[in-house]
Amino acid sequence: MITQPAPACWLVGCATPPTVQWRRRAAGIGDTTPVYACHAHAISLDGAAHVHQPACTADPARLPSCSCTPEPLPPADEVPVAPAPPAAANLPPHWAPPPTSS
Ligand SMILES: [Zn+2]
Ligand SMILES: [Zn+2]
Repeated sequence: MITQPAPACWLVGCATPPTVQWRRRAAGIGDTTPVYACHAHAISLDGAAHVHQPACTADPARLPSCSCTPEPLPPADEVPVAPAPPAAANLPPHWAPPPTSS
């Protein structure tokens, strides 16, 4: 059985287990690579919906913004099904879904 290394927060030296992720375009190839972040170092939920530039760095001083201009969102009918988000209680405050009135 192969054990994947636990993902780490993008901020080097941050030991907090990441709770969220977004995608960054991999340099040179048409693929994307996941970027993981803990609560304190997550970009905005809107920003995380976009694919970011290869050189994107989420500057701690600019959070929840990042240093790049993310790629535009694909047309709605091409949006892949998003993975199920973690439990709401496990999301950074600025990622919390709006309260439902049911
Ligand atoms: Zn962190
Ligand atoms: Zn970015």
